[in-house]
Amino acid sequence: MNIQILGTRGEIKASAPYHSKHSGLLIDNTLLFDLGEKEFLKYKPKIIFLTHLHPDHAFFINNNIEVNIPIYAPEKTKNTKKIRREIKYKEYKIKPIPTHHSKKVKSQSYLIQKKDNKILYTGDMIWINKEHHKLLKNIDLIITEASFFRKGGMIRRDKKTKEIYGHNGMPDLVNLFKKFTNNILFIHFGSWFYKNTQESRKKIKQLGKENNVNTYIGYDNLKINLNKLK
Ligand SMILES: [Zn+2]
Ligand SMILES: [Zn+2]
Repeated sequence: MNIQILGTRGEIKASAPYHSKHSGLLIDNTLLFDLGEKEFLKYKPKIIFLTHLHPDHAFFINNNIEVNIPIYAPEKTKNTKKIRREIKYKEYKIKPIPTHHSKKVKSQSYLIQKKDNKILYTGDMIWINKEHHKLLKNIDLIITEASFFRKGGMIRRDKKTKEIYGHNGMPDLVNLFKKFTNNILFIHFGSWFYKNTQESRKKIKQLGKENNVNTYIGYDNLKINLNKLK
């Protein structure tokens, strides 16, 4: 499986050259996960999956552009079909797993399998419910978000529904995911990362060491051959 990270910038202003594009993850030049920039369409993916309908993951939300490639998302819109269960496409199996992130839009991660390769791409998130954890065993690589380095991230709670929304902190995400994988790749960097990128990289590596897991720092156009990582 060949993985290409198209964008690594979170929901903030562009400030660093290697992290200027919003979310996009291309697999074998065929599957695209998140469409944070219109220019990602130039790779001509055959099928697109969105983690959620925020504009940094779905550029067309704020402008009325029609996209003529099948797009699956947690919700149906003019451009998207709702994905309910695992989809098989060529040699791939793509399974949506619900995440907690926003109170306005639904969100989900994707478990992507091709033969014995298995990765998880989460989009923005706080948590994945325990009932889904049995699906997450023996994952070769988990690609998740880095909006907040501090423990606890930025989690809010709706006064009425008690529903939580926002982003978890990276230590919390590592703590959740280290049970399921040896390799965690961070993308979707928040403003904390850009204050001193060299220092931030060190912190991410250190976080991995403390938790006995390999942590990787994504950048725009990073290419990974999954077989070399395993
Ligand atoms: Zn979001
Ligand atoms: Zn986002």
